[in-house]
Amino acid sequence: MDFDALFNAQLDTLKDDGNYRYFAELERRCGKFPKAANHGEEGVRDVTVWCSNDYLGMGQHPKVIAAMCEAVERTGTGAGGTRNISGTNHDHLLLERELADLHGKEAALLFTSGYVSNWAALSTLGSRLTDCVILSDAGNHASMIEGIRHSRATKVIWKHNDVADLEAKLAALPTDVPKIVAFESVYSMDGDVAPIKAIVEVAEKYGAMTYLDEVHAVGMYGPRGGGVSERDGVADRITLIEGTLGKAFGVVGGYITGSHALCDFIRSFASGFIFTTALPPAVAAAARVSIAHLKQSELERAGQRRQVARLRKALDAAGIPHMRNGSHIVPVLIGDPNKTRMLADYLMREWDIYVQPINYPTVPKGTERLRFTPSPLHTDEDIDYLVSALSALWRQCALVHAVA
Ligand code: PLP
Repeated sequence: MDFDALFNAQLDTLKDDGNYRYFAELERRCGKFPKAANHGEEGVRDVTVWCSNDYLGMGQHPKVIAAMCEAVERTGTGAGGTRNISGTNHDHLLLERELADLHGKEAALLFTSGYVSNWAALSTLGSRLTDCVILSDAGNHASMIEGIRHSRATKVIWKHNDVADLEAKLAALPTDVPKIVAFESVYSMDGDVAPIKAIVEVAEKYGAMTYLDEVHAVGMYGPRGGGVSERDGVADRITLIEGTLGKAFGVVGGYITGSHALCDFIRSFASGFIFTTALPPAVAAAARVSIAHLKQSELERAGQRRQVARLRKALDAAGIPHMRNGSHIVPVLIGDPNKTRMLADYLMREWDIYVQPINYPTVPKGTERLRFTPSPLHTDEDIDYLVSALSALWRQCALVHAVA
């Protein structure tokens, strides 16, 4: 059988639909963020990255780099095993204590990524709690959806950020079954923010546990970077807070936090925790320093807020519509995969601006977009340059439109 022909047939469909993904070959340059080298067809060129999830530039922070280097010298590269068999290192436990403290919880549990933490935690909860029903926000991330699917628990989808719909769905369930309300704080592609307090109140009314993904908020919201739940003063009412070490904290890895019993339960039953090599201790050491830094430093968060506001204002002045959402994510809707790709290619080729086109299945078809994430390290000049480039593009598109 010609397997390559089978693969290529499906890849061709993706290409025909405009949903095939081309990756930029970037080389991050330490100390230069948001600049990076792009290894493109025309050689190596410096570009400005406008779509990084290293939201605060912590991936190149001197303290974080020093912590990772020190830990490599002290412990070597890998962890040496799964957490169960020789892989649990002192640095992992120090990081788990730091994370528990960040969210004001009794305990925390590390995973190799945020994706794995959602997948492992939700699949374990849903499969091991008898008759469990998981009520999942319609906008939840693929990692949560996959975890719920794998659990084979009954899944009820409630309308995105719609507390009345959640309540109606909770009220329709038997009182004596375990219920989990699973949702996110900042939704990554629209950048909108959940009404956490109202959701918690409804969940409490119906005796449901709350599962909150703060992946796009940890490090960035709340006085210590504990996320939107910290900012809104409701972290203590959330049963489980999940997060990543790979975005604002600038490293890699994922985690959950909650009660001792909850974390011990996931530790003991989750295959996605048990059967995989632990994160390198140096990664844990770097993440811990990053978290500790952002617990006491407001500088990065304030700088980011300033640049986000500045970009939005400049887009408004240039007449470029963007989604208003109360977060640091600035999506510019294009609504067509080929046009989005064309715009992104043009920005890279002509302006040395890198913004990845966002297409299906990351967003629904017809809502393709450019998604900008200003950091405290983007300068005012970077913003002005970006908006000039977009304005020029918008003018050209209007011209093409008029001629057509
Ligand atoms: N949860 C949400 C909402 C995400 O957007 C992502 C990734 O972008 C993840 C979880 C996975 O996190 P990680 O990148 O650490 O695997």
